[in-house]
Amino acid sequence: MRVGTVTASTTRLTQYGFVNAYLVREDDGLTLVDTTMKAADAILAESERLGAPIKRIALTHGHGDHVGSLDGLKQRLGGEVQVSMPEIDAQIHAGEREKTAGSWPKLATKPDVLLHAGDRVGSLEVVASPGHTPGHVSFIDTRDRTLIAGDVFTSFGGVEVSNHFYWRFPLAAMATEDKAQDLESARALRALQPRLLLVGHGPAVREPAAAMDRAISRAG
Ligand SMILES: [Zn+2]
Repeated sequence: MRVGTVTASTTRLTQYGFVNAYLVREDDGLTLVDTTMKAADAILAESERLGAPIKRIALTHGHGDHVGSLDGLKQRLGGEVQVSMPEIDAQIHAGEREKTAGSWPKLATKPDVLLHAGDRVGSLEVVASPGHTPGHVSFIDTRDRTLIAGDVFTSFGGVEVSNHFYWRFPLAAMATEDKAQDLESARALRALQPRLLLVGHGPAVREPAAAMDRAISRAG
């Protein structure tokens, strides 16, 4: 797992060179946004290196490359960690709704909190951004307007909306359920005026407004 510091409070963890999770520092410990795959030990080692426990795990959506280390982390952290997942994606994992595009592996961990727009997870505000999955959410850090946009955008070779095929990362579009809604979500995230764009797949993008505008116009 590759580790990079993206802001004073945010660390990026990259598994297999193409799947990101983020550790966000709070006064009482860390929030982990997404979990990548097969990375529980490496994520816990990084939390130890940062000298802070993981208090919360917040998931942007239910796809396997984002929830893939959840059970391993929950096994080790037990009741010390609070797990939050968007409500609709939690219903898919619970078998209460039909699966949509992309991978939905079996999860033993049940979320403690079901996320809705406007909720807070520490300093992160929950923003509805459905389309890639029906429940997909993004998180904006109210301290510095860092946006963690999950799979609404990718950033390999530049910012792209995940609603259309892009040769640098074709998996994102293949796993996107509702392409029109995904584009609407991309517009809503752009309107938040983020200072830094962090995504599930690809590098961090600083002052991303112009790149997001270009991506949205290519996607429309
Ligand atoms: Zn996804």
